[in-house]
Amino acid sequence: MVLSVRYYGDPILRKKGERIEEVTPEIRQLISDMFETMHENHGIGLAAQQVGKALQLTVIDVRNISDRPSSLWVDGQEVEVDSMMPLVLINPEITPDAESVQGAEGCLSFPELYGYVQRPESVAVSALNREGEGYDFKCSGLLARVVQHETDHLNGILFVDRMTPSSKKDIQEDLDRLYAATKASLKKEKREKVNVV
Ligand code: ZN
Repeated sequence: MVLSVRYYGDPILRKKGERIEEVTPEIRQLISDMFETMHENHGIGLAAQQVGKALQLTVIDVRNISDRPSSLWVDGQEVEVDSMMPLVLINPEITPDAESVQGAEGCLSFPELYGYVQRPESVAVSALNREGEGYDFKCSGLLARVVQHETDHLNGILFVDRMTPSSKKDIQEDLDRLYAATKASLKKEKREKVNVV
């Protein structure tokens, strides 16, 4: 099922996700719905907060992105990125493993808005997979950027918080407009709910 994506201004995006101790049938269903939602919206990463759930869960798929390369290592051996896709990260922990580089980012919770963000070029990742089993890998390039962007979401951090000042200035008006529009629509939803009761 395609879920509705929450936009900037929705307080759920600022909530730190709870750790998932067990992969229940409900979590499995959520993972499947998140993949469907991400693909439907042509995204390459989606965090649980973006579909209204404050959980330590994100899904990622960087297949078919040829203009921005990624690399991936398991047990010190480089492996094909596509062989590990799509990725489910539950309770991810990341450790920076290289100097920071600047790269362009977008986010499904900020439609049509893009900016430059400085992030470590590669990271070591430790997480649970969709079976609830622990796994580790190291990645760099686009995949490392997406993993960091999504892990930020799980902690209530948004890419605008890390955006370079000049990028943020360029989109500030649009950001303010989106924030206000989201607040207004949440208020309207709440009112409609009250009316029904
Ligand atoms: Zn995002």
